[in-house]
Amino acid sequence: MGRYHEAVCRLCRREGMKLYLKGDKCFTDKCPVAKRQSPPGMHAASRRKSSEFAIRLREKQKLRRIYGVYETQFKTYFQQAAKSKGVTGTRLLQLLETRLDNVVYRLGLAASRKEARQIVNHGHISVDGQKVSVPSYQVKPGQSIALTARGGRNGRVKILLEGGPKSPPPWLELDGTQNRGRIVALPAREEIDVPVQEQLIVEYYSR
Ligand code: SF4
Repeated sequence: MGRYHEAVCRLCRREGMKLYLKGDKCFTDKCPVAKRQSPPGMHAASRRKSSEFAIRLREKQKLRRIYGVYETQFKTYFQQAAKSKGVTGTRLLQLLETRLDNVVYRLGLAASRKEARQIVNHGHISVDGQKVSVPSYQVKPGQSIALTARGGRNGRVKILLEGGPKSPPPWLELDGTQNRGRIVALPAREEIDVPVQEQLIVEYYSR
């Protein structure tokens, strides 16, 4: 699974918007994007107008960074989306949304996708009763996701659960009392709240 070694807040500043990569900090006035809109780097303010290619590239980078996926894996998702039935851009988003780490995040069992990835990696999540420690695992409609017994005892998870049940998107169902959720359907485009124009990403790969 892809991990970034540079400061993640720089990624948001590069895209000129909040990508919500750090969990709680993103909602406070400590967020660097809230304080300063310019991209990182000494000559950031004097950069020239972006080319058509650069606009498409940035859109692709933005989506990849939101979900924390490496370039190669992202390209594989795109190829999978292009081969499947339906609108390629929407299929790409659905593949990213139904990654296990994202589902854990959407169910409110983690404050960020990065934290969700860690929770999955540490074996704190089960799918249909079987422990799954692969963050990129694709969850299918009808499958249920739950905290393992060890996951339920995890200090960080406990703090999040004490905050009360979250409101997951309509394609997910949450049983707050049992720390489990279910994917009821694939998300429709309007149910995926990521600020990207996926058509630009399709155009990027169609060069
Ligand atoms: Fe992005 Fe969150 Fe850092 Fe703000 S605090 S720049 S939203 S990762």
